[in-house]
Amino acid sequence: MDSYGTTNQRLATLRVVPIVPWTIQMKGGHVASIVVPEGTVVAKFGGTSVATADQIKKVGSIMQANARREYLVVSAPGKRTRDDHKVTDLLYLCQAHVRQGIRFDHVFQLVRDRFREIVRGLQVGIDLEVLLDDAERGIIDRPQSPDFAASRGEFLMARILAAHFHRDFMDASSIIFFQENGQLDSERTYRALGSPDLSSTAVIPGFYGALPDGSIKTFSRGGSDITGAIVARGVGATLYENWTDVPGLLMADPKIVAHPRPIARVTYGELRELAYSGATVLHDEAIFPVREARIPVNIRDTNDPDAPGTLIVSETDPAGNGTPITGIAGRRDFTVLEIRKALMNNELGFGQRVLSTLAAAGISYEHTPTGIDTMSVVVATKQLGGKLPAVADALQQACRPDSINIFPDLALIAVVGRRMRDTPGIAGRLFGALGDASVNIRMIDQGASETTIIIGVENADYEVATRAIYQAFCA
Ligand code: ASP
Repeated sequence: MDSYGTTNQRLATLRVVPIVPWTIQMKGGHVASIVVPEGTVVAKFGGTSVATADQIKKVGSIMQANARREYLVVSAPGKRTRDDHKVTDLLYLCQAHVRQGIRFDHVFQLVRDRFREIVRGLQVGIDLEVLLDDAERGIIDRPQSPDFAASRGEFLMARILAAHFHRDFMDASSIIFFQENGQLDSERTYRALGSPDLSSTAVIPGFYGALPDGSIKTFSRGGSDITGAIVARGVGATLYENWTDVPGLLMADPKIVAHPRPIARVTYGELRELAYSGATVLHDEAIFPVREARIPVNIRDTNDPDAPGTLIVSETDPAGNGTPITGIAGRRDFTVLEIRKALMNNELGFGQRVLSTLAAAGISYEHTPTGIDTMSVVVATKQLGGKLPAVADALQQACRPDSINIFPDLALIAVVGRRMRDTPGIAGRLFGALGDASVNIRMIDQGASETTIIIGVENADYEVATRAIYQAFCA
């Protein structure tokens, strides 16, 4: 059973998704065009894509360009400029006022203004004032529900877009269901989405659904991505498009490498590795529903709709990006606890004692490279907080080591690519490039899946190392 509570039995309620080959034309390592097999497309538009009437006009052109875009999942309006407010943040603020019995009409006024500006710009025929009054009243009536307040951003946006695009509005609370414990109720959700009575073209608000008593519950922040993925799976889509404001996933962090190449194709697994190591473009939990049903996800840029974006595909997909690696991601500020003990390799349960000591201190670890007489544990420095002396003491008691050495200020760089497994010489090239850049490698870890090589370097060398790897493989 996965985090969505699916079992084979429950999967039987799903529509069957045909695995139809995709035609993808590559040009110079980039995807030139993607020909999607026949079938339904679910298109999710993020907050910046619906931030203003002008942005929504771009959404309209995108929807019109492909009649297969049958379901539209939307976020609440995001920021128009860097210092603007997201509507969702304003709504949480309204609820915080109500909970404390403080007047919030001045904050709700900002929400009203955002939606009025959009409706005026689009010239939609909709009775917005009634909807806004209802939302305000609902927030007042539910002082203990931040989820209800936050959900109104998506609700109002979807109502406006449904009126504007002359499509049905489908409330998420009638198709996305949670169990009492807050987990998705997959069975009920997919039954609702698989119903033959479901409208075949609809606008659906992202981010929320209903608990068994009908009250509103949201996913975690950014959760409209999850709604889109669940809808794609539930309606048996052949493609889940996730429209945002970036050209897709990039091969390296653009703050470190100037103009990195976009990643044309990445597998769900590679994406998980890149996201874990710092590169995010999609909500973590959005992968699971589509991965199981092998529905490809296409990350697209609303501001550049002709660009092919990044295609997230299943592990069995043969083609790559024309480069041996798919991407590089990384994070700074890890600490290595190196525990030394002669004949450690013969001591039954040594590793378990080390790890349970850390677990007892509430510290989760990232990697555990081991040698014959040493075991190193890599943890995020912020996990340690002020606990280091107590943890060292506890390790001393539990493991009786010869020494414990602490190496702070480590950065971890993940070099990700499923083609590394069958391409000889990758590691040689990687270490050669780092040597040429005078980067001292402090740690190497290659998981059994061989999709990722993790390199530990000094925090100070993080950027130089990332650029050297990019130059060696992607430039
Ligand atoms: N509006 C919600 C948020 O800001 C959900 C989303 O945009 O995906 O987190």
